[in-house]
Formats: sequence, C-alpha cells, structure tokens
Amino acid sequence: MEKLGIPSQTIAVLQKHHVTIQKKFGQNFLIDSRVLEKITEAAQIEKQDCVVEIGPGLGAMTQYLAERAGRVIAVEIDRALMPVLEDTLSEYENVELINDDILKVDLRRLVEEKNGGRPVKVVANLPYYITTPIVMRLLEERLPFSSITVMVQKEVAQRMQAGPGGKDYGALSLAVQYYARAEVVAKVPPNCFLPRPGVESSVIRLTLYEEPPVSVQDEELLFSLIRASFNQRRKMLINSLHNAPGLPFDKEAVRSALLSMGVSENVRGEALTLAQFAQLSDLLGAAIQAEE
Ligand code: SAM
Repeated sequence: MEKLGIPSQTIAVLQKHHVTIQKKFGQNFLIDSRVLEKITEAAQIEKQDCVVEIGPGLGAMTQYLAERAGRVIAVEIDRALMPVLEDTLSEYENVELINDDILKVDLRRLVEEKNGGRPVKVVANLPYYITTPIVMRLLEERLPFSSITVMVQKEVAQRMQAGPGGKDYGALSLAVQYYARAEVVAKVPPNCFLPRPGVESSVIRLTLYEEPPVSVQDEELLFSLIRASFNQRRKMLINSLHNAPGLPFDKEAVRSALLSMGVSENVRGEALTLAQFAQLSDLLGAAIQAEE
C-alpha cells in the first residue's frame, strides 16, 4: 500500500472506510509527507526506541514512526478508526494499537509492560481541545519519558516557552520549564492538514531533565502556589495566595517571604521566575513547619 501523508492517499482511505471525521476528537489529519518526516526526525527516533503515539488517526505518522522505531504503541480514542488503522498499518509488525482515552490509560504500567520500565519517547499530532491536560499529565506524573515531541497550536507552543511578565506566561510555561528543555522544531501552516484547522501549528520537542533546573523542598507545594497565582493572575500575589482554597497562608506570611526574597509585596505572580517561585515555596513551607 502507498504511504499516507499525501492528500490523494488520505482521501482514498477516508472513502474506502467511509470515515466520518470527528470534530469532537480534534481530528485534523496530516497530509504533508515533509512535515511527517520533520516530526519523526525531530523526535530523534532510533531502532532501539519504543514510541508511544497519542492519537494515530488514520495512521499517517504511525507509518513514519514504525519505519524508524523498534516498537510503536499507538493509543486512539475513536473506535471507528480501529479497522482503518488495522488496514493502513497492516504491513508494520512493530505497531500495537490500543483503543482508549490517553487521559485514562495507566501509562506507567504501559511503559513497564511494553518497555520494561525503560523511558519511551512520546510523539503526537495532538488533538487541540485537550493539549494542555495531556501535556500536564505527561509532565506532572513524572512518567518515564525521555522526550515528548508534539504538534500543538502555535499559541500553546508560545505559552510553553514564555518567560515572566507577558500574557503567555502561566502555569503551563512553568510546568514545562521545570520538567523539560523546550524547543520549537517546526512551524506548520493549516494547509498541511485535512480538514484545515483555523490556527497555525508548531511542533515542539520537550527533552525531559533528569534533575529539574531549580531545587525545591516540596514540589506539590510549588505547583499549588503556581496554580493559585495564575488562577487570579491580575491580583497581587499576596491576595491570590491568601484567597486560594486549600493553601494555609495568611497575608503576613506571604508578605514576609516576599520581602526576604527582595521582591515587592505588591508583586503579581506573573512577574516571578521559576527560581523565585521555588524560593517562595521553600520559605512558605518552612514557615508552616515552624508553626507546627
Ligand atoms: N496522528 C494523526 C495525524 O497526524 O494525521 C491524527 C492527529 S489528530 C490532530 C488527533 C487524533 O487524536 C485523532 O485521531 C483523535 O481521534 C485522537 N484523539 C482525540 N482525543 C484523544 C484521546 N483523549 N485519547 C487518544 N486519542 C485521542
């Protein structure tokens, strides 16, 4: 069978299997072989690698991955695409299909079972309606991944790389920067997809750190502070932390931590760097312990 990833072949597969494209699953299929080559190259896949692909769709990217990797595990939510994938991937013996929601799959167990717990590489043209929950889960659960190379909406890639002060900076930026080195490796226009999305896209590669770039006593507290700060991002940090449900800090504790960091008590969370959030977390964590 001719490879997918060109418009005529994609249309032929859609017609042969009477596929209804599901908007609710964020289905925009890649129809440009150069983009598919670029993504698989950027993911630096080698023969010994086990790759987890999220949302194989019709199997276009899966075919490119299967040619480079030792093994590909592809997790697709849309049951109707299973027979299509069986067909388009029939020549590849190193591909395993799982019909499930990636947010519900026990990924730690999957990596244990399929790759003996050794780190796998994640590659995906992500469904845009759930990009952030997927990326946050992959990062925060500290799953054994060595890299995550994903197509996302251009603005999401910008948020992942944003620094303090701008409107793009937020909890996603800080989570990405805590766990990984992020690089945009390709920009992809709407005409590379069928149907065309209403947005520009970027491919971003996250290379996971063995050790985070800042050290912090209590990671959970760090991310609770970050989430609380950006839930009310226009407020001063003192107020957003004081008002946050589940956080035990009074205004005085936050004020004195900020002052001891040499930061204005009127600062907003969006002005703090990752290192400053880590410092604040350690100071507030120590303050609670001193009270106990
Ligand atoms: N990889 C294909 C390609 O590049 O042509 C399809 C990419 S399309 C943007 C996103 C794919 O993710 C669709 O096939 C969609 O059905 C699937 N998907 C959406 N939500 C999902 C979820 N929660 N878990 C697994 N797959 C999902």
